[in-house]
Amino acid sequence: MPFDNTYARDLEGLYARSKPAGSPAPRLLRLNSDLANELGLDAEEMSSAAGLAVFAGNVVPAQAQPLAQAYAGHQFGGFSPQLGDGRALLLGEIVDRHGRRRDISLKGSGRTPFSRRGDGKAALGPVLREYLMGEAMHVLGIPTTRALAAVATGATVQREQLLPGAILTRVAASHLRVGTFEYIAARDDEVLLRRLADYAIARHYAPLTSTPDPYLGLLQEVVERQASLVARWMGVGFIHGVMNTDNMTISGETIDYGPCAFLEHFDPRAVFSSIDTSGRYAYGNQPAIAQWNLARLADALLPLIDADAESAAQRAGAAVEAFAERFDFHWTSVLRLKLGLDGGGEDDRALADDYLTLLSQHRIDFTLAFARLADAAQGNDTPLRALFGSAAAALELWLQRWRERTRAVGTSPHELKEALRCTNPIYIPRNHLVEAALAAAVERDDLAPFERLLLVLEHPFDEHAAYSALAEPAPAEQTENYRTF
Ligand code: AMP
Ligand code: MG
Ligand code: MG
Repeated sequence: MPFDNTYARDLEGLYARSKPAGSPAPRLLRLNSDLANELGLDAEEMSSAAGLAVFAGNVVPAQAQPLAQAYAGHQFGGFSPQLGDGRALLLGEIVDRHGRRRDISLKGSGRTPFSRRGDGKAALGPVLREYLMGEAMHVLGIPTTRALAAVATGATVQREQLLPGAILTRVAASHLRVGTFEYIAARDDEVLLRRLADYAIARHYAPLTSTPDPYLGLLQEVVERQASLVARWMGVGFIHGVMNTDNMTISGETIDYGPCAFLEHFDPRAVFSSIDTSGRYAYGNQPAIAQWNLARLADALLPLIDADAESAAQRAGAAVEAFAERFDFHWTSVLRLKLGLDGGGEDDRALADDYLTLLSQHRIDFTLAFARLADAAQGNDTPLRALFGSAAAALELWLQRWRERTRAVGTSPHELKEALRCTNPIYIPRNHLVEAALAAAVERDDLAPFERLLLVLEHPFDEHAAYSALAEPAPAEQTENYRTF
């Protein structure tokens, strides 16, 4: 594996070298062949004993320089000056076939100097969950870290009960986080801060290098990418669940699929994580929290933005404030696409907001409410009406307005149907399906439901009669008190 190690070379002081603990009886559960190919790796070799030994942490490839990254973070609003990779190791970077530098890291590979009281391990269920979620997001066109491989370690992990252990090999544009900047800012090391910012710019925002204000530019670019990212999350009903600043990337990729979940019936207050008791990371709170996190990034960057503290605060503040407008722009674009409206109709946002209000008032499934618009585009309202059930009458007026607006756009019903079909997925990782797939793997060592779900999620827009059950919402009694974590 042709690893490079720019992070290790350029950012001393921001990591601790460490080694994977190794796995007693490793077994490859899944290799992501497409991703392996994209990375220029030989999928066959990667699924051989040699590949497994690397993914299991039993062999460190010659060019890898495993390290645990240091970072800080605001967790549920409170600052921890030192978190860091407690159970992950960056092996190195690989430049993929498109010339993009990607981090390859192991998650669940054992204790590191940042483990604190943790065991450094990962359980099989969460590893498979991260694999599924990352791939689902990727095919939905949402920037995300992805899994290259999942292996069972053959060891057990103590959680509330004993569980089978596993390791995820994670691929990321980088693992730089808002919390990475906070780590240095909290230590008042301006030299290292500048080195980190320069590294982030070179890696993710290279055109800024030749601009007069690269550090303000960095903040503005991260604001832009996060505004776009959160809008896209919300467009598929995704709730990250733990948007701490250590779980927000500088690259704009989704990271850390812990207690995340997809909405079933539309409810902006939806929370699926039992640790989020106040609803801080609820579906509809995500833009506000993203902006709050970006303000923490701004705080960290202040010394680089302007030597004059007042001017730095003013300029950084304006960049963070711009998030609201940028999010609104991206959210409106997402909603327009979801409704098949192109151009810039003045009332599009009102039309979309009214639909969302209907969905929330009548507890309608978010995914299907948009997916069924494709049939309605060609005059078949039956599936959409069926979805609304006894609330179908409330839908009529809105449907009329939507029809008038789409007619004004001038696309043919067929074109509109196709546009909607390619935008609104039929299949998402519904919570009950994910749970069933993980339970089969954990309790019965049966990966078939996981493989089947993954296959369907890799083609989220193609409705298939054989998989119709996988498009259906969970029975109500299963969603009411559903908790991911
Ligand atoms: P998270 O909530 O997943 O973003 O993790 C927050 C922090 O806890 C990070 O520093 C993780 O590396 C650390 N952590 C999570 N699980 C473990 C574990 N099992 N062992 C050691 N550290 C962990
Ligand atoms: Mg994390
Ligand atoms: Mg996590």
